Amino acid sequence: MALINTKEMFRKAYEGGYSIGAFNISNLEQLQGVLEACKERNSAVIIQASKSAINYAGVDTLVSLVKTASDEIGVDCALHLDHGPDFEMAKRVIDAGFSSVMIDGSHFDYEENVAITKKVVEYAHKFDVTVEAELGVLAGTEDDVTSDVHQYTDPDQAVDFVNRTGVDSLAIAIGTSHGAFKFKGEAKLRFDILEDIQNKLPNFPIVLHGASAVDQEAVATCNQFGGDIAGAKGIPVEMLRKASSMAVCKINMDTDLRLAMTAALRKFFAENPKEFDPRKYLGAGRAAIKNVVLGKIDNVLGSKNSL
Ligand SMILES: [Zn+2]
Repeated sequence: MALINTKEMFRKAYEGGYSIGAFNISNLEQLQGVLEACKERNSAVIIQASKSAINYAGVDTLVSLVKTASDEIGVDCALHLDHGPDFEMAKRVIDAGFSSVMIDGSHFDYEENVAITKKVVEYAHKFDVTVEAELGVLAGTEDDVTSDVHQYTDPDQAVDFVNRTGVDSLAIAIGTSHGAFKFKGEAKLRFDILEDIQNKLPNFPIVLHGASAVDQEAVATCNQFGGDIAGAKGIPVEMLRKASSMAVCKINMDTDLRLAMTAALRKFFAENPKEFDPRKYLGAGRAAIKNVVLGKIDNVLGSKNSL
């Protein structure tokens, strides 16, 4: 089995009114947990790694790890660069074998975002690699970039952007945010903006970043076993389901997997003080990841039997 790009999976997701989960990984257990859940549900999946994950694990190591695990577990998947900061990084991972990349020029001015996205698209398409870009700014912190406020995506600008860059999918800002602390007050997503973009760009796949639900049970377990994660709040599941039934074809979830793994490890150590076999505690983390992803497929994405 080879790594696949996102074209066909997004086409089917758009038609079927569901979304593909994009899960961030940086090690073996996270990867296996995600793939095992997708195998069990026969679900399409995007495995993604950010620049910091690549720095952590090594680009060639990640490519062979994902290829081999997807083969062994029996799930075709895309390997996608999350938040590619520049052309060089995108080129580096394409040359290494990634099947999909994001170029995030959302913090540049508009014309610069168009130019850098176009350059990545021209290179990526030579290798049948799909490209995601971003327009609008999400609040929160992603790798090195932090923003305090949302800058919602302008639908007319989105049309111009897609036409001029030839990009394959677009991450938009409608009120989701990065990290575990998504809302101070009530959660609010701008479905009117999503609908406007959908009408102006029919059949074009939209991506939601920063869309973890921030499972309160996982937060409570972390805190019960020595953690200190205060006031975390995420996106309500019903809102993500609604977005999936519209033009959203890819939903990024990182925080929920991190929380689940951390909760499982904290609990394991507290309950098994004599244990020091990494396979035991990392195995507990892997089982927790699998469990979260099964729940996402069933309750958020609706991607069961999409492989
Ligand atoms: Zn993001």
